[in-house]
Amino acid sequence: MPGNRARILVLHPVLGILDYRVPQGMHVEPGSIVVVPIGPRQYAGVVWEPERLPTEEVGDNRLRNLLAVADAPPIPASVRRLVEWTADYYLSPPSAVLAMALRTSAAFENAPTIVEYRATGTVPDRLTPQRAQALERIGERQGLVRELATIAEVSDAVIRGLVKTGAIEAVVVDTETPYPLPDPNFGPPDLSADQADAASILRQAVGAESFQPFLLDGVTGSGKTEVYFEAIAAALAAGKQTLVLLPEIALTEPFLTRFAKRFGCEPVAWHSGLRTSQRRRAWRAIASGEAMVTVGARSALFLPYPNLGLIVVDEAHETSFKQEDGVHYHARDVAVMRGRFEQCPVILASATPAIETRHQVELGRYEELKLPSRFGAAEMPRIEAIDLIQEPPERGRWLAPRLVKALEETLARGEQSLLFLNRRGYAPLTLCRNCGHRFQCPNCTAWMVEHRLLRRLSCHHCGHTIPAPSLCPECKSEDTLVACGPGVERIADEVAALFPDARTAIVTSDTLWSPAKAAEFVARMEHGAIDIVIGTQLVTKGYHFPNLTLVGVVDADLGLDGGDLRAAERTFQQIMQVSGRAGRGEKPGTVYIQTHSPEARVMQALISGDAEAFYAAETEARREAEAPPFGRYAAIIVSSEDKAAAEETARMIGRAAPQLAEMHVYGPAPAPLAMLRGRHRFRLLVHARRSFDVQDVIRDWLGGLSWSAKVRVAVDVDPYSFV
Ligand code: ADP
Ligand code: ZN
Ligand code: ZN
Repeated sequence: MPGNRARILVLHPVLGILDYRVPQGMHVEPGSIVVVPIGPRQYAGVVWEPERLPTEEVGDNRLRNLLAVADAPPIPASVRRLVEWTADYYLSPPSAVLAMALRTSAAFENAPTIVEYRATGTVPDRLTPQRAQALERIGERQGLVRELATIAEVSDAVIRGLVKTGAIEAVVVDTETPYPLPDPNFGPPDLSADQADAASILRQAVGAESFQPFLLDGVTGSGKTEVYFEAIAAALAAGKQTLVLLPEIALTEPFLTRFAKRFGCEPVAWHSGLRTSQRRRAWRAIASGEAMVTVGARSALFLPYPNLGLIVVDEAHETSFKQEDGVHYHARDVAVMRGRFEQCPVILASATPAIETRHQVELGRYEELKLPSRFGAAEMPRIEAIDLIQEPPERGRWLAPRLVKALEETLARGEQSLLFLNRRGYAPLTLCRNCGHRFQCPNCTAWMVEHRLLRRLSCHHCGHTIPAPSLCPECKSEDTLVACGPGVERIADEVAALFPDARTAIVTSDTLWSPAKAAEFVARMEHGAIDIVIGTQLVTKGYHFPNLTLVGVVDADLGLDGGDLRAAERTFQQIMQVSGRAGRGEKPGTVYIQTHSPEARVMQALISGDAEAFYAAETEARREAEAPPFGRYAAIIVSSEDKAAAEETARMIGRAAPQLAEMHVYGPAPAPLAMLRGRHRFRLLVHARRSFDVQDVIRDWLGGLSWSAKVRVAVDVDPYSFV
């Protein structure tokens, strides 16, 4: 390509790859972030090696000029390779992947300061209900007008009006304030012998500056964090950047505190909750290499670290690392690829590694480091099953007598308990006793979940919400609506009825929706201000509360129905993780598992603590079924608001399926979630041998077809969700 032409990967969802002319006097190189015109509009893009992104060549005379080069370091070659690999593997447009590296447009605009707004404390003379709502919700928070309006659920005009009255003021935020530098020697721990062995191998790997994946497999409370902190210390000492991925943003806050104890200051945090100014500051520091340690949710993975020396994926078994919309990628797997492109070690830390990860260890591709016991005096908890058929709870209750007694004793000892039920709200289904009417979401194949605290029913798939009904919409009778089944709120009610003096907390994504809320919960637990926590999967991971000694799993069977190939494994992981919250200090812990099938293999494995036997049996079953990691799946989801159009397209795709010995196509059939957010869904499931290049086949297969604009076809390679 002649010197005055450049191939650009543009952040445009459809056009993607385009050529431009480099005007006189402008200098660009592969990786440069540029601004390009498309029609009357401007888009950001990145200069790419033309041979790596083939497209139709356009004649020189038709080229438009690049408009500008951003004042930011070029996107490194390793990130460009990662973008290509991810797009290829997950059958996604490269521009959609690149968008994850350029997460913020403010980041490369040339504006070191941003004007934000915050409340001044003065109350305006005319306090309309909207203004009152805005001031109350904004509280101490600060942000752009748009951000404050979103927080307050009012229009931008309301916020601007408050600025005029002086109730809200402007503040200039410098987004180039440097971050403090973590000190590798600030607070080093005394490691146990096992910890020291693992740490020394990891330190060496960081020093070697080459690609090496590790599975850090340590029981809950064994000090995995402490161990990978040593690897981070080595990277810091070598002047290399580290990326730590966590599965939930709620876990970021406790991590920051813990990190500061070890390294003297907090790392750079990256997650969806950041304000524009924070995002800009973090992105710039990451891209310049100044941010030495970044901790974040999966979206931190694609950022342009120029000098990455270590990647850690904590709680690596968590399925929340799989993104379920846009680019359907698995952050754990892409993290390993990134380590390969960066030539640096990757540590996957977990107490309950995924079968896929264990398999990589068996194949000798990942090195396993084991921490077989808890740190210090802490012992693993005792686990008992409660057979709900033999020992049922009282009528209309959900906690069996043995668990209630244990709660009572734990309270009496002044210790804390945790009841785990992976269901938000009060009840998963509301029905009419008189006519049998069930409240279903109008947009989804799903029941409306009652949230009694908020007095409403809502759909957990699309967010559709209605006020709690007082009469049946079908037969119009009053007082005939009954709640079926429990959610955490209902368990909290039962606890309140049993122990009126106990201080309880409900922990779900409804109550812990921000890092600050999570920090508040942790502080209350640590100060002993909570006796009994009732929570969803959000409380199963990461937390360390030494005075928590009792865990009750309210419905251990919940995750087992649904026919998901990973159901048993996921149940095992989830219950092991939640059990891992018990007895982490000096006092021993006990776990009760309420189940209708205490004989099931997964329950037996939990009680006996024989994880190896369970994994061996599960792995064997996968091998026989040629399920992952021995075979592979890809789902093709065809959806449309027009049911007939979706069905017809799905059939057409099915008819065009290539006939190959290495691959089998199931369907199309209505997806288990036949309707989602108002769209009808049909699914084809491709099952193939491990070694088979299923992506190439699907690319050719779908590439030769066309369908109406109202139909969307999404491919999910290595799916985790089968709904
Ligand atoms: P895991 O992540 O393996 O569940 P953690 O890393 O959370 O375990 O460690 C459990 C607890 O033990 C934490 O409070 C941690 O600070 C403490 N701990 C672990 N190792 C050490 C050590 N070498 N020195 C002091 N405290 C430690
Ligand atoms: Zn009715
Ligand atoms: Zn819905």
